[in-house]
Amino acid sequence: MRVTVFHNSIPASITAAQKLIKLLKNGHFELDERHPDVVITIGGDGTLLSAFHRYADQLDTIRFIGVHTGHLGFYTDWRDFEIEDLVIALKEDSGQSVSYPLLDVRAMYADATSAHYLALNESTLKRLNGTMRTEVYIKGDFFESFRGDGLCVSTPTGSTAYSKSNGGAVMHPRLDALQVTEIASINNRVFRTLSSPIITAPDEWVTLEPTGRDDYVMTVDQFVINPPTIKQIRYKIAKERIHFARYRHMHFWDRVEDAFIGAKH
Ligand code: NAP
Ligand code: MN
Repeated sequence: MRVTVFHNSIPASITAAQKLIKLLKNGHFELDERHPDVVITIGGDGTLLSAFHRYADQLDTIRFIGVHTGHLGFYTDWRDFEIEDLVIALKEDSGQSVSYPLLDVRAMYADATSAHYLALNESTLKRLNGTMRTEVYIKGDFFESFRGDGLCVSTPTGSTAYSKSNGGAVMHPRLDALQVTEIASINNRVFRTLSSPIITAPDEWVTLEPTGRDDYVMTVDQFVINPPTIKQIRYKIAKERIHFARYRHMHFWDRVEDAFIGAKH
């Protein structure tokens, strides 16, 4: 098994990474940064997001494992004080894995160029220098004219991140669906949006056709993109999925409770 350790730069993560690398070497694992079978991230959910983008071209052969140096996260099943247990689990590995949907983003620009992105959490389209105006289509059919700050399209595992801040529902990651949430929509006698999150079916796609299209900001997970004039952006569930090595199971709703509600009274 070829393994690599991907960590952020906080001292606790560096310490944990050094310890893990030492244990992996003692356990005769092959360390391979370029073509690993397993990527172990140490840091937070954001670190796993970074590793996902680093290895986005090898998703079909890589399984991820997230170690958190703070509290437990959503992509991080292990804590930094459990590194010995993790190495034991790796030695007994029999290929256990779980996979989750990703978001496929295709942007078509007025100059006939295009761009393609994969998101693990979400992609947003926003306008900062005034109201964003966009037509919204679902499965090619006109749905609404949106006016406001922006729109967010999230994966199920991204539903506990930005999407939740927009009032989105927390989605179980076993669902194959996307969620669209509004960022400060304008609603009055003149302008009207649905004003609630929507969750689309597996075979559906969402298209945005912005007007006044030259100063939009696009985000894909932690990345901020300043695109050229946009003709259309299309969001659908990607054919690729992210795979995690799963050596033990924590119920999704326990994790949600732990992250957002905390200790019972
Ligand atoms: P960050 O600013 O450090 O992340 C913001 C927070 O989101 C961190 O606490 C991070 O956890 C957490 N997070 C990331 N993915 C999550 C998930 N799937 N479920 C629950 N929490 C999650 O930046 P970052 O770490 O690079 O993460 C980028 C993400 O930040 C974006 O994908 C977006 O979802 C989120 N974001 C949220 C808002 C908002 O809520 N208003 C605005 C911008 C971006 P860790 O501390 O464990 O890394
Ligand atoms: Mn972070």
